[in-house]
Amino acid sequence: MKYVVVFDMDDTLYEELTYVKSGFKAVADFLNEEFMIDINESYTFMCARLLQDGRGSIFNALLEYYGVYTSDLVKKCVDVYRYHQPTIKLQAEMINLLNSLKNYPLYVVTDGFVPTQEKKIQALGLSNFMKKSITSYSLGSDKGKPSPYWFKQIVHWEKVEPTQVVYIGDNANKDFVGIKPLGFHTIRVETGDYKDQVPSDLHEAEHVIECLRELPHVLKKIWQDFRIEGELK
Ligand SMILES: [Mg+2]
Repeated sequence: MKYVVVFDMDDTLYEELTYVKSGFKAVADFLNEEFMIDINESYTFMCARLLQDGRGSIFNALLEYYGVYTSDLVKKCVDVYRYHQPTIKLQAEMINLLNSLKNYPLYVVTDGFVPTQEKKIQALGLSNFMKKSITSYSLGSDKGKPSPYWFKQIVHWEKVEPTQVVYIGDNANKDFVGIKPLGFHTIRVETGDYKDQVPSDLHEAEHVIECLRELPHVLKKIWQDFRIEGELK
């Protein structure tokens, strides 16, 4: 039987914090070039602010701290962050996992600002593993999750039923609620900012795993004839 495995990207295939820190580094470099602000100091400031308040007004606080705040400069920092070339990568274990699934069509469906998501896809080398990495906002953010739009497209392209497709994501607020009623299988991985969330039954995935190491086991629970490359028959 044909099965299709679809992944979320941020905090599913790699730790999004590594992207955030890579962006902070780019902003620190930019402020050093513009104002000779010490790179390590401003980088440390941003990381501390992130821990303290989460993402939000970090660049405002940073520019105020150095006495160079203007709204234009905040926008410039946001652009530097969003368009920087990220230094992120897939862990060896993730590469092994994706290789072990290579007999199945693999996809990524990721929300977010399209140029940023495309830079991440490129930096992670996802084209080596995925049949297609879909930036869901490319046809408008209304087609992003929880919209089932791209998942219905995958069903159409692959000529399968939703029950032959699984989506693996980390954010129950939006990753599963739109596709579960259509018959798609869903797996939530407890990673990143949402790992401790307690979703409603409507939002929760069909299966919950602590890390993707458990994925092959769960895929075989969903589809008994699912085969992992390299395993003993
Ligand atoms: Mg995610």
